[in-house]
Amino acid sequence: MKIFENESLKLHSTFRIGGKAKYFTMPENIEEIKESISFAKENGLEYMIIGNGSNILFTDKGYDGLIIVLTKLKGIELIGENTLRVYAGELMSSVGSFAYNNGLGGMEALAGIPGSIGGGIYMNCGAYGSEIKDVLRKVCYLYSNGETKVFDVSELDLSYRHSIFSNDDPQFDGAIVYADIELFEKDKNAIAEKMAEHREARKSKQPLEYPSCGSTFKRPVGYFAAQLIDECGLKGKAVGDACVSEKHAGFVINKGEATCAQVLELIEIVKETVLREKGVVLECEIKVVGK
Ligand SMILES: Cc1cc2nc3c(=O)[nH]c(=O)nc-3n(C[C@H](O)[C@H](O)[C@H](O)COP(=O)(O)OP(=O)(O)OC[C@H]3O[C@@H](n4cnc5c(N)ncnc54)[C@H](O)[C@@H]3O)c2cc1C
Repeated sequence: MKIFENESLKLHSTFRIGGKAKYFTMPENIEEIKESISFAKENGLEYMIIGNGSNILFTDKGYDGLIIVLTKLKGIELIGENTLRVYAGELMSSVGSFAYNNGLGGMEALAGIPGSIGGGIYMNCGAYGSEIKDVLRKVCYLYSNGETKVFDVSELDLSYRHSIFSNDDPQFDGAIVYADIELFEKDKNAIAEKMAEHREARKSKQPLEYPSCGSTFKRPVGYFAAQLIDECGLKGKAVGDACVSEKHAGFVINKGEATCAQVLELIEIVKETVLREKGVVLECEIKVVGK
C-alpha cells in the first residue's frame, strides 16, 4: 500500500475542484483499508473514505489528513443465481455491464449514475424511479477497529438520499466494503434498450460536457429544485467559473477554473433567491470536504 503526499484533489472529484490532500492512498483490498486507517490513527490524522468523488466538493485549501479512495477495491461475482457480490469500489456502470452480460435486470436506471457502489449505498442513490435499496440485500461494513459486520438491507434505514451511514454517526468510522445485490432474469435486448433510453435522457437533459457533482440540491418535498431555480431566472447565473447550468438548472457546473469558494457563493445565492421568491428551503446534496 502506497501513501502519497500532497495529492491534488481535483483529480478525485467529478467537479475537478479542490486543493491538495496532505496524505492520499488507494487501497486495493480490505487489509490495505485497515492499514490505511491505522496509518491515520498512528499519526493523529483525520481520514476520509471516498468512492468516485461524484458527490464531493473539496475545499480550495484541501484536506489536512488522509484521503482513502476506494475505487481500486474491485470485484463482482455471482454468488447465487441472480445475486451479485460487488466490492465497494466498483462503478455503477460496471455493475450495469456485468448484469447485462449475465441477462440480469434491475440495474438499468442505476448504471448511469457516475458513482461507486459504496458511495451509492452511503446516500441511497437513485434515478428514473429506481433506488439502490430496490436491489440491495446485504452490506458488509468494516469498522476502524478492523471488525466487520454484515447488515441486512432492512437495518440500513434507506430513504431518499439517506442511509444509516450518512447520519454522521461516529460509530461508522470505517468503510462499506462489499454489498450483495439481487437482480432478476431479463431479456438482454430489453436491458440494452432501457439502458440506452436512460443514457439518451441523461445526455439530452444534463450538462455532461462540464464537470459537476450532478444535482446540487436535494428534491424539496412537493417541488423540483431545478424548476424552482429556473422559475427564479437563475439559469446561467455565475460566480467566476461556477455557473447554474443553462441546460439543467439543478446542476451547478464548473466552466473551467471554478473554485470551491465560487461554487459555495453561488449555492448561497440560489438558496437565498429560491427562499425569498418561492418560500422553499433548498438543501445541498453535495458534501463539502476539507479545511
Ligand atoms: C453527472 C452526474 C450525474 C449524477 N446523477 C445522479 C443520479 O441520477 N442519482 C443520484 O443519486 N446521484 C447522482 N449523482 C451524484 C453521485 O454520482 C452519487 O451521489 C453517487 O452515489 C456518489 O458515489 P461516489 O462513489 O462518487 O461517492 P463519493 O462522492 O466519493 O462520496 C460520497 C459520500 O459517500 C461516502 N462513501 C463513498 N464510498 C464509501 C464507502 N465505500 N464506505 C463508506 N462511505 C463511502 C463518502 O465518504 C462521501 O460522504 C450524479 C453525479 C454527477 C456528477
